Amino acid sequence: RIAAVDGAVGAFLDVDADKALADADAADAARREAAAAGEPLPELTGVPTAVKDLIVTRGQVTTAASRILEGWVPPYDATLVKNLRDAHLPILGKTNLDEFAMGGSTEHSAFGRTANPWDLGRIPGGSSGGSAAAVGAFEAPVAVGTDTGGSIRQPAAVTGTVGVKPTYGTVSRFGVIAMASSLDTPGPMARTVLDTALLHDVIASYDPLDSTSLPDAPRGMAGVVRAAQAGAELTGLRVGVIAELDGGEGYHADVVDSFHAALALLEDAGAAVETVSLPHLEYALDAYYLIMPAEASSNLARYDGMRYGLRVEPAEGPVTAETVMSATRGAGFGDEVKRRIILGTHVLSAGYYDAYYGSAQKVRTLVQRDFAAAWQQADVLVSPTAPVTAYRFGEKDDPLAMYKLDVTTIPANLAGVPAMSLPSGLSDDGLPVGFQILAPQRADDRLYRVGAVLEQ
Ligand code: GLN
Repeated sequence: RIAAVDGAVGAFLDVDADKALADADAADAARREAAAAGEPLPELTGVPTAVKDLIVTRGQVTTAASRILEGWVPPYDATLVKNLRDAHLPILGKTNLDEFAMGGSTEHSAFGRTANPWDLGRIPGGSSGGSAAAVGAFEAPVAVGTDTGGSIRQPAAVTGTVGVKPTYGTVSRFGVIAMASSLDTPGPMARTVLDTALLHDVIASYDPLDSTSLPDAPRGMAGVVRAAQAGAELTGLRVGVIAELDGGEGYHADVVDSFHAALALLEDAGAAVETVSLPHLEYALDAYYLIMPAEASSNLARYDGMRYGLRVEPAEGPVTAETVMSATRGAGFGDEVKRRIILGTHVLSAGYYDAYYGSAQKVRTLVQRDFAAAWQQADVLVSPTAPVTAYRFGEKDDPLAMYKLDVTTIPANLAGVPAMSLPSGLSDDGLPVGFQILAPQRADDRLYRVGAVLEQ
């Protein structure tokens, strides 16, 4: 399937079919052995998986879609990759992304863009656009992405797939190339809520190698989905519609219509739907675009042309640490990455720290308090996943226009809460629309319960 369609879709940066086939054979043997021993392996054993190229894989090139890491072969596995290998999920290959996960369209990869399988002239979302397109184009049954400000949920929405950003800290960041460490959350992507849950159960784990890992990662999501499918009702569940994200300027009319149609389905299933206000969401986007570049500028300081990855010596003049760093970073980073490093170092600089970074952190606390108050009124919160459907390549050339589309997904990252996007039908012009569900920290099971009922 990859050979047939990936020339047009461009979901993968690297495919290792021979290794995946060998791993699939090994999975078969392991499954038989485990069954004979009375200790069956996870249901996904043997199911090939696509992995976002922000996640390091031992012995397989990992680039973050950046020239600065072109050809880099990691000497170790990310913890979540180790979890995949322990469960014998063969890794099909590494998927494309916006460079260092900065973007919402996968147009900002140093190695070419990925197309949306629904319309090859449109973006697959981002930054996990390769993972979403691979799943949407039936090139992989399941995939792993990462979500710092919406990079799992928004690509899932615009490709008609399911994506979950788990509770921050429940899927290890060890070996996930850092963008903004206080926001980065790896998570599962698939075509159904059940498949997403099965992958969630494989990758979530406590990890002493990640200092922000939570000791009690919620597991057993597949069981939650099956129970919800059998019951098919949500009697008494309080669903809060986020007032600040319920349409208005910048929202496509079909997105809003689809969202309201899904709310009616929730009511039919017995849920009590009411509107809940989170007043500080108005400032969430601005806070994110200060905190994220600040953390990214610090994280990306490691690409210095000395330790690993690209090294470029200056064309003329003395070869010093500073000139090598400058030449390497000048050649190795793309425009969007440079923009964010400059922004991040600016907001962290002595004269501006309090005004920008300090204020943004205060806003983050206010957003977290809004969520804490909202959970008194609702068991889950809902909104459209993205204000618009997949746009055409080049349509959002202005960075601010692209940033603004993240308004619906960013709040969950600032608060660290889990969130799911699942398909809620098509727009009039035949493009997928996503429905977003948010739950309190560690209550990822609620996403799967509501998602499973909605999907039916
Ligand atoms: N689109 C957002 C950004 O550009 C989110 C990226 C992400 O989640 N990795 O920052």
